[in-house]
Parts: sequence; C-alpha cells; structure tokens
Amino acid sequence: MQTIRRKISIFFILCSICAIFLCTLFVNLTINNKFNEYMINAQNKRYERIISFLQETYKRDGKWSESSGVELTHEAYMSNYCLTLLDNNKKVIWGMDPNDIRNKLHFKNMNVKDQGVYTSKIFEIKIGDKLVGYVDIGQYSSVLLTEDDVNFKMSIIKSIVASGLVTLAIIIAISLYISKQLATPIKDVANMSMNLSEGKFYTKSTIKSDIKELESLRKSINVLAEKLKNQDIIRKRLVSDISHEIRTPLNILQNNIEAMIDGVFPVTTERLNYLNEEVVRFGKLLNNLNLLKEFEEESIKLNFEKVSLKDLIKDIYNDFNMVAEKKGINLKLKLGDNSEYYITGDKDKLKQVFINLISNAIKFTEKGNSIWISLNYERDKVIAEVEDNGIGIEEEDVPFIFERFYRGDKSRHETQGNGIGLTIVKTILQLHSANIEVESRKGKGTNFKIYFNIYK
Ligand code: ADP
Repeated sequence: MQTIRRKISIFFILCSICAIFLCTLFVNLTINNKFNEYMINAQNKRYERIISFLQETYKRDGKWSESSGVELTHEAYMSNYCLTLLDNNKKVIWGMDPNDIRNKLHFKNMNVKDQGVYTSKIFEIKIGDKLVGYVDIGQYSSVLLTEDDVNFKMSIIKSIVASGLVTLAIIIAISLYISKQLATPIKDVANMSMNLSEGKFYTKSTIKSDIKELESLRKSINVLAEKLKNQDIIRKRLVSDISHEIRTPLNILQNNIEAMIDGVFPVTTERLNYLNEEVVRFGKLLNNLNLLKEFEEESIKLNFEKVSLKDLIKDIYNDFNMVAEKKGINLKLKLGDNSEYYITGDKDKLKQVFINLISNAIKFTEKGNSIWISLNYERDKVIAEVEDNGIGIEEEDVPFIFERFYRGDKSRHETQGNGIGLTIVKTILQLHSANIEVESRKGKGTNFKIYFNIYK
C-alpha cells in the first residue's frame, strides 16, 4: 500500500516528465526544421551569387580563361564546397579537387543526415539568352553548415534540454511540497480518527490547511471528537447519577424501615408518609427515565392535532395554582387577547412540557415571589413564556441545563429533582419543530420562551 504523498508525487512527476519530454521534442523539431530551411535559403543565395559573379567575369573578358572567377576558390575552400568552371561544351576550364575539402572536414560534427556523401549540381551561366558555360558546385552534405552554425544549433539544443531539466527539478520540488500540503492534514485526521476509534476523545487535529475541503474535514473531525468526548462524559455521569439517584431513596427507605423494625423509630403515619414520598420520587425517576428512553429511541407515537394552547395552559394553571399557593408563590396568567393560539401538536406531550417548566419554576422560586405564564404572537409564531423571579441559574450552567441529568449548582442537590425534566422538554419540542430559549440571572429569575409554529 502506498502513502498518499508518494502517490501524488509520483503522479505529478510522471505527468511533468511526459509534458516536458513532448515540449522539448516539439520545440527541437521545429527549431531543426526552421534552421535547415534558413540554411537552404542561404545556400540558394550563394549559388545565385556565384553564377552572377561568373556572368560578370564573362561579360568583362568576353571569353573564359583559366583565371576566370578563380578568386571564388578561396571562399569555396573555406566554406567547404567545391567549384568547377566549364565552357558551353562542358569542357573543364578549371576545377577544385573534392578530396581537398574531404580531408579538412570533420563529418561527425555536422548535424545533417546525408553527411559524407559527395553530391554536386550543375548550373548554367547565361548572358541574356546565350549559354556561355556551366558551373559545377559540389559538397559533402545536402546543407552546408559551418562550425559556427553547428555550434549555434548545438547550443540551442543544449539550452532546451537544460531548461527541460531545470523545469523538471522545479516541478519535483513543487510536487513534493504540494503532496506534503495535501498529505499532512489528511494523515493527521486519519491518526485522529484512529485515536477516536480507540476511545481517545481528548485528541485534536491541529494541522491547519489552506485547502477548503481539508480544513472543513479537520474542523468536522474536531467537532466529532468534541461531541464524542461530551457523550462519553455524559455516559459516565449518567451511570454514576443513576446509581446515586437510586441509592439515595433506597438508603433512606432501608435505614428508616430498619429503625422501625428495631423499634428505634415509632411507626407513625407521618413517618410512613415521608417514606411513601421517597417511594413516589423513586417511581417518578423511573418513569422519567423510561419516557426519555422512548423519546430517544423514537419509539414514541405522537398524536398530532389542532391544539388550543390557551385552553391547555389554562388547565395546567388550574392544576398548579393550589401547589403554588401552598408554597406562598403568586402564579399569574397573561393570555393577552381573545385568541386561542392554535398550534399543531400532541396535547399530552405539550402538557408535559408546561408541567416540567412550571414545576421547575415553583421548585426554584422562594416564598413571596411570582411566576408568570403568558402567550403572545410574533409574526408566524406563537410564543409561550414561563417566567419567574426565583433563584436563577449560574451563567456557566445555562448552556447545559437541557442536558440529561444536568443539575445546576451542586449546592441545590438537596432540592428535589433528577435533571431529566428539561431534557424531556427539549426532546418533545424538537418533535414539534419548536424552539426553546432560556434567559436567566442568578438571584434575579429565569425566563423560558418557546416558539411554536402557528397552526395553518
Ligand atoms: P431537575 O429535575 O433538576 O429540575 P431539570 O432538567 O428540569 O432537572 O432542570 C435542570 C436544571 O436547570 C435544574 O437542576 C436547575 O439547576 C435548572 N433550572 C431549571 N429551571 C429552573 C428555574 N426555573 N429556575 C432556576 N433554575 C432552573
């Protein structure tokens, strides 16, 4: 199995080698063709120049002699071609020896395909329409290249190859860098998911990337880790909380019953009532846990219907009025105009929401204070509020109060409750597509606001 870095690097390098090879090949072929074209042009011009020189010589002398145009031989020798002057009967007037040129040439330096094969061309020399002679121009390659020409051509080829190699080196460096940029965060996320699978939830992926997808992958795995960590904490706390919740009433029951059996405590109605309250509390805890389990397994069936929140809240208000009065709390109802505040929902479950909120408000509000229950409209929402001026919630506890078994401030542990009420509220509201918000200040009071969609 290959690493992503290796794979990306090999892929980049292979692609670049192909691209550079093809580029170099095409550039080289084009330059070669253009260069040969240029040389052939130059050669044709030279032929024309030789012929016109010999024409001028003939015009000047009126005939051929052994010295006619012989000045050309020096240049011909230096430029590696061979001249022979013939009269109009093709009789040689003077001529150079091809072997002289052959001996001085180093064919291996010449970059032409038919190097070393002697070829010659005969051109007519005419004055007007009259043919006066011929010149034979021979050479050892189809295109003649001087040493400078060959050097020029070689230096171009060398620079093309060198630039190809330099480009390749740069591409290798860039591909190694890019593959590292891609591979390192992926490797980090892979390591992190490995850690998560081993239950190490406290790890975090810290290698940032400027690639959008990788950065969002990193962020989401960090969020996942955070969630798993919280779930793990909640799970551990759940076990300890449940055992604590069960042990406390059981201990109270056991100690009291044992004391009664031993005759330490007299069996009075008051004591039996007290023990019964513990049994009821215990039963409530089990009911709540069962309810929560059903919600979480989504096995609960909701009976959605048109519900008048006004009627529903009025009923609950009547149920709680006595309880609040007993505690010396003023429970007030503010239902605004004559609207019914219709929403779609499951009546029983909605009742449970308000029961939990109002019983919490009563629980956490001291004698002499008040609780307000109100209903209002805000655009296409019905807003239900349960507000109290009770003990309030610590700022740091507010974000967690909807979590299972979360019970604010530890000092309130004596107050009855098991930290499930608000979790049930939130779960029921989610099933109704409703939102709940809480505002609370320690010592000032708490306000729960629920936003329901209006019945349409
Ligand atoms: P509990 O059974 O403990 O009341 P809940 O889930 O209903 O559990 O509430 C969680 C915590 O939120 C409570 O322990 C309490 O700290 C805080 N809380 C809820 N409602 C109020 C309120 N009206 N005033 C003050 N604190 C509240």
